[in-house]
Amino acid sequence: MESEKLTLRNMQELADLIRQYDYHYYVLDQPLVDDGVYDAKMQELIRLEKNYPHLADAYSPAQRVGGEPSSSFPQIIHRQALLSLDNAFSQEDLKDFDSRVAKALLQYDYVCELKIDGLSIALIYENGVLISASTRGNGQVGEDVTSNVRTIKSIPLRLLEPIPRLEVRGEIYMPKKEFLRLNQIKEEQGEKIFANPRNAAAGSLRQLQPHIAAQRKLSAFFYEILYLEGAGIDITSQEETLRFIQQAGLPINNNYVKAVSIEQIYDFVQKSENERSALPYDIDGVVVKLNHIEDRNKLGSTLKTPRWAIAYKFPAVQIITKLLDIEINVGRTGIIAPTALLEPVSLAGTTVSRASLHNFDLIKEKNLLIGDTVMIHKAGDIIPEVLRPLPELRSGYERPIMPPVVCPACGSQALRWEGEVAYRCDNINCPARLKESLIFFASRPAMNIEGLGPSLAEQLVETGLVSKIEDLYHLTEEQLTNLERMGNKSAQNLINAIMNSRQQPLSRLLTALGIRHVGSKIAQVLASHYNDINLFFNLEIEQLLKITEIGPKIAESVVFFFNAPRNSETINNLLEAGVNAKEASGTQKTGPLTDKVFVLSGTLDNYTRTQISSIIQNFGGQISSSVNSKTDYLILGDQPGKKYQQAVKLGINILNEAELEHLIASCQSQQT
Ligand code: NAD
Repeated sequence: MESEKLTLRNMQELADLIRQYDYHYYVLDQPLVDDGVYDAKMQELIRLEKNYPHLADAYSPAQRVGGEPSSSFPQIIHRQALLSLDNAFSQEDLKDFDSRVAKALLQYDYVCELKIDGLSIALIYENGVLISASTRGNGQVGEDVTSNVRTIKSIPLRLLEPIPRLEVRGEIYMPKKEFLRLNQIKEEQGEKIFANPRNAAAGSLRQLQPHIAAQRKLSAFFYEILYLEGAGIDITSQEETLRFIQQAGLPINNNYVKAVSIEQIYDFVQKSENERSALPYDIDGVVVKLNHIEDRNKLGSTLKTPRWAIAYKFPAVQIITKLLDIEINVGRTGIIAPTALLEPVSLAGTTVSRASLHNFDLIKEKNLLIGDTVMIHKAGDIIPEVLRPLPELRSGYERPIMPPVVCPACGSQALRWEGEVAYRCDNINCPARLKESLIFFASRPAMNIEGLGPSLAEQLVETGLVSKIEDLYHLTEEQLTNLERMGNKSAQNLINAIMNSRQQPLSRLLTALGIRHVGSKIAQVLASHYNDINLFFNLEIEQLLKITEIGPKIAESVVFFFNAPRNSETINNLLEAGVNAKEASGTQKTGPLTDKVFVLSGTLDNYTRTQISSIIQNFGGQISSSVNSKTDYLILGDQPGKKYQQAVKLGINILNEAELEHLIASCQSQQT
């Protein structure tokens, strides 16, 4: 009795844990554990439920298919339940499956297909036109993802024949190349990466914005006819099914074989496992199905899985090695990311000695220490990943891994913006990101310098002609003609393009500076409120927050950027090189300085002459170099000269720096 109580508690705890895993996997598309761990827990629960059926809970995760459909999408009720598959993990399991089949049938054959690691999808075509696409969901009810599926190029919107009604099932997947590309972008943007191509495909398909799904190059294979009406043929086997689907215009996976014995099945399993890493998409096993539909009908299905098919899952390839050290690198976009340096080990066909640790939160989550013995694998069969440490093997000499305080490439403060996992270097001139900064600075939405693309940017940085963005404006034709593939005419054109870019409006310059969270739209908003770059140096977060389009993240980032001395130096250098500091005059507003004439005398503490002149002009004031009867104000700095005496003589208003700031502040508050 006591032991039954314990077993029940054990089953409940396992079920709770699996529910958690399911939620993260099916709903959030961010699994908590890798599939091997999940499968082991699930097998244990299935074993317990089989041995103690009277303790089994009807709502246990072992009794159901997939996850609940998300309420973010309209729901679609499947005409016929989309079942899952029973799993086999060994040759023994395959033999058991075959014996069960042999009990029901005298003669039969199988089709073995690759098990695509994606997510199940059901399509409905009416008169040859795609009318709906839904995920499997809980098997009975799926999510309507038609608008996202319509963006997948390999899925035809119209079949080759106007078949009255065809419902097919298949697998949507993300090619490995696309998975790598997407994760690289996510990492550069400081976002959480996808654990594997399957989660990336699911996350992309369950996007609420079809244009985002469209950017992720998803693809699909189809393998089952769920319903067919009016095609005038009777499909009797899996081979005919695949042929029919392909002839209708839908993609199928051609890597399948017919098999009549367990040996033939196992040969295909091994061949597929060997070729797995060379395939452009990820597979996690082989699906073995009875070939003939008539045979399948004889075996039937349970509530969860058909009895006529089984999924053989490849064993997880994991290996133990040592975490020797951490290397901290700055990526081309300024992300500061840790990489694990590992004792080299051979894993799934390659020697692995490094693995990205992505971000410092993940290191903390995994509780990794330098010197740890660690378990590694290849995520999605391609990317080496440190799964976990083995704390029981610690010697006591392991060292903690600390997040960076400064950028390892330029020594600027390492920043971490709210809501982001990554630390960043935001120095536009950081050597690690200079090339990228330059390409971005010259890009179309920014300063639009035609001819300054990636290869030229690389040459300019590598030859040392540009070691800071502002160096661009001091390049000479002669310097440029010494570069590869650069003739006199191209050099001249480029210099012209660089010089012309100085006339770009302030909004372009703000975009070009690569201020975090300030893209071209926000730059325009900012420039329409503060139409001189010099105004940005004294802004407070609260002032920016008064602008409807500006939230705390943007405000904080802008204020931080303009407070950093290295950025004001760059901006001053750009202005001195003749770069325009203003937005088009159409956006100028009138204020207390409109048409007033100012003269500067002496030096100010907080502003250069260029800065203060721009600010005054921005508010409609004029700068004059000499004091006369038309002068309205004299700005008085340290060590004033003759102009001061003249102003006193003419009785002109004299403002010190504090009084001037007061006047500017009143202008700014009128503008917001
Ligand atoms: P499954 O992965 O065991 O296999 C069934 C699925 O295989 C089908 O639904 C179909 O979508 C797919 N499939 C691919 N190619 C196929 C082909 N040629 N023919 C037929 N079907 C094909 O079952 P599942 O229900 O999709 O997912 C359960 C699995 O998901 C678990 O075994 C586990 O590995 C993983 N999972 C992991 C976590 C986690 O936290 N890591 C959580 C939940 C589920």
